[in-house]
Order: sequence, then C-alpha cells, then structure tokens
Amino acid sequence: MHSNMIPEDVDLHIHSRFSDGELEPEEIIDRWASLGYRMIAITDHDGIGGSKKGLEYVRRSGHSICFVTGIEFDSSDELSEEIHILGYNIDLENEALNRTLSKVIEWRNERNRKIFDTIRRLGYSITEEELRAVNGGRFTGKPTFARVLVNRGYFGSIAEVFEKLLETSSEIRSIVKHTLSSEAVVRLIHEAGGAAVMAHPMEQMRRGEDKTAFMSRLKVLMDRLVGYGIDGIECYHPSADSEDASWLADYAEQKGLLVTRGSDFHSDRNKRVY
Ligand SMILES: [Zn+2]
Ligand SMILES: [Zn+2]
Repeated sequence: MHSNMIPEDVDLHIHSRFSDGELEPEEIIDRWASLGYRMIAITDHDGIGGSKKGLEYVRRSGHSICFVTGIEFDSSDELSEEIHILGYNIDLENEALNRTLSKVIEWRNERNRKIFDTIRRLGYSITEEELRAVNGGRFTGKPTFARVLVNRGYFGSIAEVFEKLLETSSEIRSIVKHTLSSEAVVRLIHEAGGAAVMAHPMEQMRRGEDKTAFMSRLKVLMDRLVGYGIDGIECYHPSADSEDASWLADYAEQKGLLVTRGSDFHSDRNKRVY
C-alpha cells in the first residue's frame, strides 16, 4: 500500500569519510548520480563536513542530482539511550548548529581518549597515528578503533571487535557517552531551518526482545518524539523488512509525518559498522 509513497531513486542516508564511511562526498555523488538517483543526502555522524563538501561539489560539477544537506545526530532520551535523529535541509552556516557541533566534538574527543587508553591497557598496542590514518583524522569513533584493531590482526572483522571487545568489555562499556537529548536535537535542527527525522526505528529493538512487545515500546518512543516536534520517520531502511516499513509508514501517515528512505551506506565491504 505504501510502496509508492517514496520513490526508490531517493537515498537520504549516506555516510562519507567525514564520519565512518569509506567514500569521499564527491565519489558518493558521482556514483549515486550514475546509478540514477534523483535525490540524495550525506548524513554523517555529528558533523556537516561531508554535506558541505558535497554541496560545493554538486554546485561546481553541475550534477543535476538534488542534493539535500544532512546530518545524523546521536541523542538520548529517558526511554532509550541511543536514538539517531537525521536533520535535513539544514543551514550549514547556522551558528547554534556549529556551536553545538564543536561541543559534541569535544565530548567525542574526551571519550575517544578514554577508549584509546583503555584499549592499550587491555594489551592492544594501537597508536594515534593508526587511528588518524583510517580517515585522515576527520572522525574517530568506535568503528575507527575497530578498523585499526582489524588492520593490526587482533581480530578478523569489525563485527568481531564489537562483539568481543567494544560491546563486551566492562571497562569500555563503562566509558560514558555524553550525548544531546533527543528533544534538544529536534529543537536544534529546527533552529537551523531543517526537518528532523527519526533514523532506523527498527534498530531500537533489543537483542532477544519479543517483536510484539518491541513494536508497542517503539510506538511509545515515537509518540514521545512526535511530542518533541519530529517531522518524519525513516520508514525504509535495511533494518526494516517490507512489513515493518509499511507499519512505520502507517504510523507516519496517521501522525502527518514525512516518510523517508535511506540505505545507511558506509562502504562496499561492510554496509553497516556503526
Ligand atoms: Zn544511525
Ligand atoms: Zn547512519
């Protein structure tokens, strides 16, 4: 019923090398344009560098693709520790946005320092140079540490690093992630003139959680975001099968929200590492 609500030539969720993706913004635009996409957005984690570079490139190169500025914010709420919120059509020069992003980068740097020290204390001799080499130092997060540990041969894959170390070591888990509240993120995106969209709702499902129980919990969470003024739901995402997507689109329709589609592309090797 909803399959025609959003065309397949729209991809509003792509990560570049300005966060944990493996392609440069220019490579993304060239590739998505040649695949026939009509509208795309680069949505890097807590940063607008990729969007900025992409926008300049589209203007310079004369691509006819519709390039929407974007970002993917980490946020937290009483109901969930980790809610990703996409911001679209934001003014990249907005002062409040840029001020908040510098603060978020400071928090991230502090946390990375603690993760780095802990990983080394646990016996893995990684260096700061290796971390910077992953993407030119433009972004460091858990996936960056994972990649270095794989490159060093300590683990066989990025998923394995998460399973055996990053998600299971009590020392690493105890390193607090300081994030903005979901309410503040929605407000900030609006202040920057943009639309706020809840990213991949199905990823809110906890390991082993009963699907029916999850769906009712998710509805409560989405209602709360609606209360904060969220503008849309990313109904079409690899984490949602067609039944999930149509359930989400029904919800969005009832609430008068935008329905979006995103591939959450990170790289050819491993589409999702984060
Ligand atoms: Zn996400
Ligand atoms: Zn993402």
